[in-house]
Amino acid sequence: MVFEQMEYELKDGRITAERVTGEELVPCDDVILAIGQENAFPWIERDLGIEFDKWSVPKVDAKTFQSTRKEVFFGGDAAFGPKNIIWAVEHGHQAAISVHAFLQGKSLSERPASTVKLSSVKMGVHEWAYSNDYATLERRLVPHVSLKERFKKVNIEVELGFNPQQAAQEAQRCLNCDVQTVFEAKLCIECDACIDVCPVDCLTITHDGEEAELRTRLRAPARVTTQPLYVSKALKQTGRVMIKDENLCVHCGLCAERCPTAAWDMQKSTIHWPHAGDGESACHTQREIA
Ligand code: SF4
Ligand code: SF4
Repeated sequence: MVFEQMEYELKDGRITAERVTGEELVPCDDVILAIGQENAFPWIERDLGIEFDKWSVPKVDAKTFQSTRKEVFFGGDAAFGPKNIIWAVEHGHQAAISVHAFLQGKSLSERPASTVKLSSVKMGVHEWAYSNDYATLERRLVPHVSLKERFKKVNIEVELGFNPQQAAQEAQRCLNCDVQTVFEAKLCIECDACIDVCPVDCLTITHDGEEAELRTRLRAPARVTTQPLYVSKALKQTGRVMIKDENLCVHCGLCAERCPTAAWDMQKSTIHWPHAGDGESACHTQREIA
């Protein structure tokens, strides 16, 4: 396949000039084309009421995806230039909400809210609706075909994969990100049981303070500043706060299992992303998500 080598001039992220500077031949057995295409709208008459910007791309409202002709909507690359397919799907999703509201004669700018529901996964004193074993097993390497074999047969699968038992064991490493630690400050009696049991030292009860200084006073210093800390309301007994470094938490649930007052709980979060026609719905989250 012959590729042209190009040079571009860019302004505000857009190509303003381009030229071919050479060629490169890449030998291939098969070629699968998976490339984006330029936006081109010569087929839209310019007197329809759809305004175009200086790049000849339709002017589109970033929230509603409505063009300047109110019954015409755009999404994907056609709306805001090249993005990936996931954005195109999201644009279609949002445009569908707008079209539905438009046909109902409703406001397009009032968007239905996304919601999060939390529900406890506790099923008994030591039983949870998810697998939460804290295992200190070393990470297992995926077995490979020996080098000797690989040199003998170059077209064989190199990774042998895990057997079902090993695969099941490895899957236990899942951090269960959909299950959150949820803390209720008013229930905490500051017994320190959760602090003692946490296998990764991500919980601390201490006096509140400025974040930068607070980060240095935790049981395990929180050095990843891009990860916000959870800081609870003041605890009843001493006015100190419960702090959690989510960056370390492995969602094992031991804090919730150990806590005598259920101040810590493990709750599954279910996110509802709005669809066209969804009614107004408020966020049902009542407890704090740590
Ligand atoms: S769930 Fe997180 S905070 Fe609770 S004990 Fe396990 S690692 Fe610690
Ligand atoms: S175990 Fe429960 S009551 Fe004890 S300090 Fe932790 S959250 Fe508070």
